[in-house]
Amino acid sequence: MNIMNNTTTVGHAPHTKDCNACTSCGCGCRPVHEVVVLGGGVSGITAALDLAKHGVLVHLIEREPSIGGHMAMLDKTFPTNDCSMCILSPKMVEAERHPLIKLHTCTELVGVTRDDNAEEQKGRFRVELLRHPRYVNESECTGCGECTEICPIEVYNQFDAGVGVRKAIYKPHSQVVPNVSIRDSEHCIDCRLCYEICGKHAVLEDSEDKEETITLDVAAIIVAVGYETFDPRKLAQYHYLFAPDVVTSLEFERMVHAQGPTLGSLRRLSNGEKPKEIAFIQCVGSRNTAVDRPYCSCVCCMYAIKNAMLIKEKSPEIVVRILYMDVRAYGKGYDEYYERAIKQGVEFIRGLPGEIYPEGGSVVLHLENTENGEMLRLTPDLVILSVGMQPIERQEQIAGILGLDLSESGFFASSSEDMTVAKTGIPGIYLAGTCHAPRDIPDAVAAGGAAAMNAFVDLMREDCASVPQEGAMQE
Ligand SMILES: Cc1cc2nc3c(=O)[nH]c(=O)nc-3n(C[C@H](O)[C@H](O)[C@H](O)COP(=O)(O)OP(=O)(O)OC[C@H]3O[C@@H](n4cnc5c(N)ncnc54)[C@H](O)[C@@H]3O)c2cc1C
Ligand code: SF4
Ligand code: SF4
Repeated sequence: MNIMNNTTTVGHAPHTKDCNACTSCGCGCRPVHEVVVLGGGVSGITAALDLAKHGVLVHLIEREPSIGGHMAMLDKTFPTNDCSMCILSPKMVEAERHPLIKLHTCTELVGVTRDDNAEEQKGRFRVELLRHPRYVNESECTGCGECTEICPIEVYNQFDAGVGVRKAIYKPHSQVVPNVSIRDSEHCIDCRLCYEICGKHAVLEDSEDKEETITLDVAAIIVAVGYETFDPRKLAQYHYLFAPDVVTSLEFERMVHAQGPTLGSLRRLSNGEKPKEIAFIQCVGSRNTAVDRPYCSCVCCMYAIKNAMLIKEKSPEIVVRILYMDVRAYGKGYDEYYERAIKQGVEFIRGLPGEIYPEGGSVVLHLENTENGEMLRLTPDLVILSVGMQPIERQEQIAGILGLDLSESGFFASSSEDMTVAKTGIPGIYLAGTCHAPRDIPDAVAAGGAAAMNAFVDLMREDCASVPQEGAMQE
């Protein structure tokens, strides 16, 4: 693909003798379909791999420079405390290497037109995408990182939730897929050091890489654009961004990540010292009608318990308290996990503080323990806000483009006429992961698989005469 040519139409996969499509029913037909999976988080990656393994050509669209989504930011995952990237990274690499998956990073959805009379094999949806310039030639860059080392510019790293810094030419983290750098032209001062050091001449000038429109004709679309975390500035009582030792749970994930800005060493942002007393405040932006977030975010109790236990494992002397409304440990093995945290010395106090404020090197919290009516004054030196999940900023816009309905909470709504949550009101468009509802990783993976299987069965039903049609069993 010529990156200077800013309009590309990607054609259909050729039918070849080696085409491994439709191996499942044995009817001999080769219905090679193309499907777009929008969003390369764990749910989208799962959907893409499941479809590709069934012979479907998948375009995996990711707006960021790397696939992986939020799971790539996490240190460990509940309830096993397994290393998050140890599970995710092989899947990311498998998706990149699969011959039937085409990755489109730095790319976003712009428009979709639907054609119900489309010829067989030609797809039903014409999907228009916009690829943003990376200013690094993807086919030449080896990801060696020499450009990053020499670049003199440092800016906050969005991937480190703003806690760490990155260079103006960078990889968001060390296990990016594709393993390619990106030059941030907004912050680059054009000193040209990276152009000179790159032996592959992969760094591109602003004029050498332009926005590009890509058009795809596909038979189905799986939407897996994920979630955002609640912005705690909307709750002024927590003084987020004014008090340096009040951080969000996602920032904390990066602070304790072995490859994060502090290489896993737990430090206060105010003075770089190790904290002695830590408090987690639950339901920040969840179950709160005042900020229009009446729903439970499902994961915050569990991730707070996870992080509390990890702190206790590394530093048993740190006092760790979780301040909650009620603990929702609903999944397999979750209640046992909660019990383990209590045994490890994590304190659970039922009650949420009102206004919290920094004072004398600590953060002051006043609250009532609603189990015994005791009034408490706590002075932790690090406060972690367990921020909830919310729909992404572009959710409404994407719903408009695809013709999807939103539920009351603002997430995409699934079809009310069907028992499966993967289907939408539009035939051929399916939902996967947390863009449909707050979910943890196992549920997001299951939802990705369900969306892929729903799409595959529908596509096969349309094209493959030997697949039993509805009602065929009675004949
Ligand atoms: C602090 C914290 C800790 C957590 N810890 C755990 C844990 O220990 N265990 C657990 O099970 N769960 C945990 N979770 C939940 C977990 O993060 C999610 O369940 C999981 O990441 C959801 O995956 P997803 O693919 O649905 O969404 P995401 O991970 O959000 O992926 C969506 C992808 O879509 C991309 N995208 C968005 N918009 C577009 C667009 N317009 N075009 C193209 N691409 C787009 C995004 O860039 C992203 O890559 C935690 C959550 C938080 C906030
Ligand atoms: S742009 Fe060049 S120097 Fe930078 S990572 Fe890629 S190959 Fe290495
Ligand atoms: S040209 Fe830009 S990206 Fe390259 S080293 Fe200089 S400031 Fe960094």
